[in-house]
Amino acid sequence: MISQLEDTTQGLEHLITAGSETKIVITTHHKPDADALGSSLGLFHFLNGRGLDVQVISPTDYPAFLKWMPGEESVLNFEENPERSSEIIALADLIFCLDFNDLSRINEMGALVDQSGALTVMIDHHRNPSGFDTHRFWTIHTSSTSELIYNFIVKFGSEAEVSKSIGECLYAGIMADTGSFRFSSTSGQTHRIVASLMDRGVVPHEIHSHLNDNFTLNRFKLMGYVLYEKLQVLPEYNTALVALSREEIQKFGIQTGDTEGFVNFGLGIQGIKLSVLIIDRTKLIKMSFRSKDDFPCNELASKHFSGGGHLNAAGGSSTESLDEVVDRFLKILPEYADKLVQ
Ligand code: 5GP
Ligand code: MN
Repeated sequence: MISQLEDTTQGLEHLITAGSETKIVITTHHKPDADALGSSLGLFHFLNGRGLDVQVISPTDYPAFLKWMPGEESVLNFEENPERSSEIIALADLIFCLDFNDLSRINEMGALVDQSGALTVMIDHHRNPSGFDTHRFWTIHTSSTSELIYNFIVKFGSEAEVSKSIGECLYAGIMADTGSFRFSSTSGQTHRIVASLMDRGVVPHEIHSHLNDNFTLNRFKLMGYVLYEKLQVLPEYNTALVALSREEIQKFGIQTGDTEGFVNFGLGIQGIKLSVLIIDRTKLIKMSFRSKDDFPCNELASKHFSGGGHLNAAGGSSTESLDEVVDRFLKILPEYADKLVQ
């Protein structure tokens, strides 16, 4: 049982039954992480296994440490193949939107999905869905979209249809989104699902190794630099802050995914309740927020930085300069003083 699931997927059975000629697209948010790509490929293998016409399209590239996932080679990168991707979206009957709930999260693809006329099934665990979807399988009371996909497969098929490939993709997503089963979103149900994925052949230490022992030397050099030179603590607000300029990113030759997890460093410091990572990504300033207890990262991100996410993990962006974003963040902090200093 999934707690407080909003499930309006009744009536879709015939579209995803073997023999159906439905043209299916699966997409996920830009710069997909392990849950985004893992849930997408997990669902892909399920539908593909039934002989259905299904294509995963990512709005952008994704980190090299996800490229071991079974089926990854079949994913279309919209930025690299805009024409082919647009055609496939325009012809789709059914579009699964995984691990996001607002079309702004898929960049230019948002307008194409909106105009396609396809049914859209949003499967997600973030707060405040925008309501673009025609069908949904949504709750915030789950560890990950990958956990939801497991439930979706069991609902529309059976546990027997969870292949080892599906299991590896979903295990990676659940492991990543729970911080290796330590965040408060980890439930008994999460562990029961993971146990069943192991029964299907998943070997946990292999997935851990794929995700954690696969980084570039540059990432570790940048990590050292961030910890030694860049991590600031604002004790009056129990807040930790790292801001990285374009020059710093270039100097370390940083690639997609290399800064993943850096925002968690600050939360490891005694007493810190809020940690923020601000990076100049050239087109945009990208922000990541992480918090402890009941500090609402999603509210801070959506109110001030055009973003959103979960209570304890959210993100946002800005078109201002890095210095302007840092200044504005520092001016906003007093608004949250009562929640940060207790
Ligand atoms: P991260 O800091 O790892 O990029 O993202 C943390 C969480 O916030 C993820 O669940 C992600 O989906 C969400 N998130 C990150 N950036 C944005 C954003 O710009 N807009 C929204 N709505 N959510 C975001
Ligand atoms: Mn997720």
